[in-house]
Formats: sequence, structure tokens, C-alpha cells
Amino acid sequence: MNLHTIDTGFFKLDGGAMFGVVPKTIWQKTTPADENNLCTWAMRCLLIEDGDRLILIDNGIGGKQDAKFMGHYYLHGDATLDSSLAAKGFSRDDITDVFLTHLHFDHCGGSIVRKNGLLQPAFKNALFWSNEKHWDWAIHPNAREKASFLKENIMPIQESGQLRFIPDQEGVHFREDINIRFAYGHTDAMMLPQIQYKGKTIVYMADLLPSVAHIPLPYVMGYDMFPMQTLKEKQAFLEEAAEKEYILYLEHDAVHECCTVKQTEKGVRLDQTFDLAHL
Ligand SMILES: [Zn+2]
Repeated sequence: MNLHTIDTGFFKLDGGAMFGVVPKTIWQKTTPADENNLCTWAMRCLLIEDGDRLILIDNGIGGKQDAKFMGHYYLHGDATLDSSLAAKGFSRDDITDVFLTHLHFDHCGGSIVRKNGLLQPAFKNALFWSNEKHWDWAIHPNAREKASFLKENIMPIQESGQLRFIPDQEGVHFREDINIRFAYGHTDAMMLPQIQYKGKTIVYMADLLPSVAHIPLPYVMGYDMFPMQTLKEKQAFLEEAAEKEYILYLEHDAVHECCTVKQTEKGVRLDQTFDLAHL
């Protein structure tokens, strides 16, 4: 198995929304904000070469939204999905599986492109993986989460016939060396791939832990649907990650690709940060 970081660029989100009840006077020490209170976040995907499969975990915001929508998110940086795949010797047609942790637009927007006015899958040879519980949640969105579930990212996947569901059972295997963890606080039935690689366990954190700044327990996003559930899930996960020396792969951290955590007298805290390529 080979793992590759696939950067799809940076975007900006409101710092207050990203840190929930933690005041700016505290969070701005680790995560600087611009004059509009916006902070920079990565959209860092992961490519897994595993036997005859080429699996892409999440795919960023994509390029099909209009200027008004994009104007809210300040996309920047040189990397795109295509340039990052090309740098590893691949193109989107080589992808056999697109694994979607959840259907918020900054995770699945790259799934669909607009060609000649038509919405169609951006990965014509791939299966798209979600789970039925999350899918139902996303296509019948509540008013608070609706702005994150864009119909144009979701329905064309189903219409293409390329959609497949993973059973939402904790630890279910996706491949021999990839099993799936579930989290229910950020949104319903978000999936976190857990990968055995070079003798280590790597967990793709998606929105359970967007960045290293979110490691202390009270740092739960205002975006989360069920923050108390996230709190429990994050605490249990971080204890396990410290004990078992997991590597946490960070989708949204603008600076750090990977980290480890350790137990301290204040609770679980950041240990080391490094790039995946240095494993
Ligand atoms: Zn999300």
C-alpha cells in the first residue's frame, strides 16, 4: 500500500464558528484570523494505492460553484485536485473509489463537475462510497445544516449509478487494511477511515478533529450538530490515540498534515507534527 497527500487548496471559514465556545482572545494565539475574522483551512485529501484500487478520500470544494458562493470562501493556494494527482503520476480517470467521509461541500464538492451545462461525476471510472444513514440525513437536511449539503454535489452521484453504501457498523472493513470508524456529533454517521500502513495506524480525522488547535476538549466547532456527542467522541478517540500511538491525518489544518498526541496532566495534548511523506 502507498499513501499520498492530495492538497486541493485552502479556503477560509469564520474563526468563531470553527472554535465554538472558545473565545477569540484564546484561539487566535494558535490560529490567526484576518480582518473579517476568517481563518485559513486546508482541504487535504488522501490517496490510497492498494493493490488494483486507487482510493481517494474526500475531494475538496470542487470548481463548479458560482462566483457568489466562492466569494464567501476565499479559495487560495496553488494546489488543485488535478495538479496534486498529476504530481503523483495519476489523473482523475485512474481513481477506482471515491470515499466520502461526509457530504458537506468542502469534502465532496469535487465529486461532480459541470460539463456543457450538465452535472456529472468528476471520476467516471469510480464508485462513490457513503453510507445510507448519512445519505438520508444529507438529502433531507435540517435548516441549520442545509447550507452545507448542496444538492448539486449529492444528487448527481446517485443518478450516475456509481453510488455505493458502506454498512454503518463501527469498525467495518472497507479493505483488508482499512476499517471505518463512525462519528455522530459533527453530522450523522460521518466516516473516518483507519489505515494500517508501514506498521502504524493512521486515522483520517475529517471533521472530528479539523486541526491541531482542536485537540483540547472544549474546542468543538460551532458547526457541529451535536456538540456534546462530539465532545464524548473526541475524548474517547484522543485517549485511544495517545495510548495506541495513532497518527492523525488532518484534513483542515493549514500547516500540519499529521500529528501524534500524548497523555499529559492536563489531558491529551499535541505530541509531534510531521508530513505523511516523512513516515
Ligand atoms: Zn463537515
